[in-house]
Amino acid sequence: MIDFNIPPSVGNELIYIEKAIKNKKISGDGEFTKACNCWLKNKFNAQSALLTTSCTHALEMAAILSDIKPGDEVIMPSYTFVSTANAFVLRGAKIVFVDIRPDTMNIDENLIEQAITSKTKAIVVVHYAGVSCEMYTIAYIAKKHNLLLIEDAAQSVMSTYRGKALGTIGDFGCYSFHETKNYSMGEGGAIVVKDPELTEKAEIIREKGTNRSKFFRGQIDKYTWVDMGSSYLPSDINAAYLLAQLEIADEINKNRIKIWNNYYSELDNLSKNGYIDLPVVPEGCIHNAHMFYIKTKNLEERSYLISFLKNRGVQAVFHYIPLHISDYGKSISRFSGKDEFTTKESERLLRLPLYYKLSESDQNMVIDLIKKFYKVYC
Ligand SMILES: *Cc1c(COP(=O)(O)O)cnc(C)c1O
Repeated sequence: MIDFNIPPSVGNELIYIEKAIKNKKISGDGEFTKACNCWLKNKFNAQSALLTTSCTHALEMAAILSDIKPGDEVIMPSYTFVSTANAFVLRGAKIVFVDIRPDTMNIDENLIEQAITSKTKAIVVVHYAGVSCEMYTIAYIAKKHNLLLIEDAAQSVMSTYRGKALGTIGDFGCYSFHETKNYSMGEGGAIVVKDPELTEKAEIIREKGTNRSKFFRGQIDKYTWVDMGSSYLPSDINAAYLLAQLEIADEINKNRIKIWNNYYSELDNLSKNGYIDLPVVPEGCIHNAHMFYIKTKNLEERSYLISFLKNRGVQAVFHYIPLHISDYGKSISRFSGKDEFTTKESERLLRLPLYYKLSESDQNMVIDLIKKFYKVYC
């Protein structure tokens, strides 16, 4: 069986976890959490970075820091994970969905402005598959209309847009270190906060609404309840697992890119002959090979291909069902304009196995099977 994903485990995880235990510090903000925060801040040239318990929680923190209130409108694509929307729904926001571009599956920057009303408070972009949205245009629109810009960069750790790390361009950036992502701590994430004046508030929200972070730094002699908050800091054991991976992030990235490029060049002929479509990476975007997907002709063909591969030991999977289609999604949102591509393109998309150290022979088997499928069935 060739798995769709195998969670990364790269070498030093157990040594670091043992060290965390020996440190007698397995709760939050120990040595390893601090080391991960520093790594993210330095590597991505971010104003600040804080590990969280998940990207879902990083998004919730972003929604609290954005001061989203009941009735506020938040613009985002419908082709995304539920957490992108939930974080804002939890604060009472109404979600306004905008169609995606068929080439990148990212929010169509040219449709955002017409979705803005007097109630709009924020734009949330999702960099699908680690490929950046058109941030130059979107940042311009956000500034022009005085809106907050939040990046759901769950899939985009180590991706850039015009030289800038994804997650550091908007007011808030949210990363995921879930086991399905490029770098993992099991469950986990991080938030990047751009405004230095909000960094302390972020620390407080993350530490149950207390100024305990300041207390641990010795800046105050006792800590108290100062604001609303929750528990968004992960165990240092999880951070220890993550640090082992961040330390060799360039190597992991290189390996994934190699696999991605190999899929692309091997399947290019099928694409040129009109059988499938391949992902598009616009100019100025450097991606992190988070995902390799192909697009089949339609939903029916995709279903055939999934079972064809499954019967031959290959796990390939589709992705999001657009949020605006679900009953709950309908009740908390409106779709601005027409759903020209969100549903149609989501039904064609199929993700192929891609993980750190996927073997060449396994990858060749996936490629050969796809070629065979199109020879036999088309
Ligand atoms: C994975 C993912 C999330 C959720 O991340 P968790 O760390 O599992 O909470 C949110 N948004 C997108 C786009 C994702 O891919």
